[in-house]
Amino acid sequence: KPRLILVLGDQLTPDLAALRAGDPARDVVVMAEVMAEGTYVPHHPQKIALILSAMRHFAGSLREGGWQVAYSRLDDPENCQSIPGELLRRAAEFGADQVIATRPGDWRLRAALEGVPLRLDWLADDRFLCSEAEFATWAQGRKELRMEWFYREMRRKTGLLMADGKPVGGRWNFDAENRRPAAPDLFRPAPPRFALDADTLAVLDLVEARFADHFGRLRPFDWAVTREGALQALDHFLAHALPRFGAEQDAMLAGDPFLSHALISPYLNLGLLAPLEVCQRAEAAFHAGTAPIEAVEGFIRQIIGWREYVRGFWALMGHDYLQMNHLGHKAALPAAYWGADTRMACLRSVVAQTRDHAYAHHIQRLMVAGNFAALAGVNPAAVHDWYLSVYIDALEWVEAPNTLGMSQFADGGRLASKPYVASGAYIDRMSDYCGGCAYRVAERAGPMACPFNALYWHYLTRHRGRFAGHPRMAVIYKGWDKRPEADRQAILQTAGDLLARLAAGQPV
Ligand code: FAD
Ligand code: SF4
Repeated sequence: KPRLILVLGDQLTPDLAALRAGDPARDVVVMAEVMAEGTYVPHHPQKIALILSAMRHFAGSLREGGWQVAYSRLDDPENCQSIPGELLRRAAEFGADQVIATRPGDWRLRAALEGVPLRLDWLADDRFLCSEAEFATWAQGRKELRMEWFYREMRRKTGLLMADGKPVGGRWNFDAENRRPAAPDLFRPAPPRFALDADTLAVLDLVEARFADHFGRLRPFDWAVTREGALQALDHFLAHALPRFGAEQDAMLAGDPFLSHALISPYLNLGLLAPLEVCQRAEAAFHAGTAPIEAVEGFIRQIIGWREYVRGFWALMGHDYLQMNHLGHKAALPAAYWGADTRMACLRSVVAQTRDHAYAHHIQRLMVAGNFAALAGVNPAAVHDWYLSVYIDALEWVEAPNTLGMSQFADGGRLASKPYVASGAYIDRMSDYCGGCAYRVAERAGPMACPFNALYWHYLTRHRGRFAGHPRMAVIYKGWDKRPEADRQAILQTAGDLLARLAAGQPV
């Protein structure tokens, strides 16, 4: 009997565990575009188009490699529009009763697949440098999990930027030289663009017809949809942007959404690029003298450090993680996140580029969109739904720990030791947003005061019991306590007014 080899939309890797376990002479690969996956949150149209087009191209390459592929297009009339439904339909069609599948990164789909009345052989997703079991062993017995320690283990394990068991350059981390503000630069190379072939054009039309009500512009569509294209994107980054990656990593410019970022997260997450090859190419750029150590180390840390860390962390936490709300935040997500008017230039700019490109870089996600949601006390589940919907690279295993843990502190500090919240001064230092804003970043109270300022102090005050004991936050509270009582009241009054406006659904 043939077996069904399930290949999901983020499993587009020829040596995927399930494909390695299958036999092209006997088995049938099942791939399905389904409405259930496109709509469980309102995914950005570019994200849906990228996944569908990359799936179609990958199916083509599997067929060329000798596989029989049962591929369901979204507009096939017989399509059941759910992955379990399509598996059952294909099982009946091919007389199969066994499915080989690589474990998906989201709990929702795992649970749905486990309900399918077929024999299901789960295989671990081994496209990561650290397996779930290895991470669990590393985490065992530790009082707290911290990325920096995990990262050093990964450097030792991979040998990346290591010489004689020691970190190249004499330090593990070169961030002291990184993270500077940036100035607009007409000569900064733009990201690569990719010609759209007939498959992608057909997908764009389909997405336009089916998902017109989802937030986000579909065109122009500038993402690669094949491994070859993803490699071109990587080459472009290594040649043009990597040298400035470290210095510009945390900078934000209203007129330049991409700065010197890699724009490769969707390719890594869908399986078109592998983490080790990406890091080895960056390391080679350092040895060739085309990129400095602080840029290359910083870049490699994001991938073998943060990316692997959140993946191991996610597997360890289990599905209850999605319900966590340690700070008891309950507010609705402000309409500005879906493009409604706001006077805040930073939030308006980040949401606009998210709408246009399905992209914002890490600091925009963390210190503008995430920071504001945390300060405004938005329910973390609503914040999670937003991030999962709007970003091109958003898959639950990587999005949820970043959003709920790093950005919203909803897990009470399991992922990060303290909340990533800041007043307007941080945004002003790292960006050019404030110059074009209706608010004044230097003011803390009154109708013209930057909302981040008043809300920051409101957040610290309302969560004082939780944070005052933290060594690095105690100094902040000390500074607050030294302010004149009247100042503190005026700031908290301003925050109260802002929160009341937000609660009433009014723009701020
Ligand atoms: P670069 O800045 O060029 O970094 C290089 C690579 O490092 C990225 O491609 C990515 O693979 C990896 N990386 C960097 N930081 C992280 C991180 N914190 N976690 C995991 N990988 C990291 N990343 C996603 O891939 N999917 C998400 O859904 C996602 N949601 C996020 C939500 C929030 C609230 C925050 C704060 C961050 C989120 N990130 C997510 C992490 C990060 O913002 C993106 O990986 C990055 O912006 C992708 O753009 P890039 O390829 O240009 O990255
Ligand atoms: Fe954002 Fe405040 Fe600056 Fe306006 S003043 S751009 S709201 S940080």
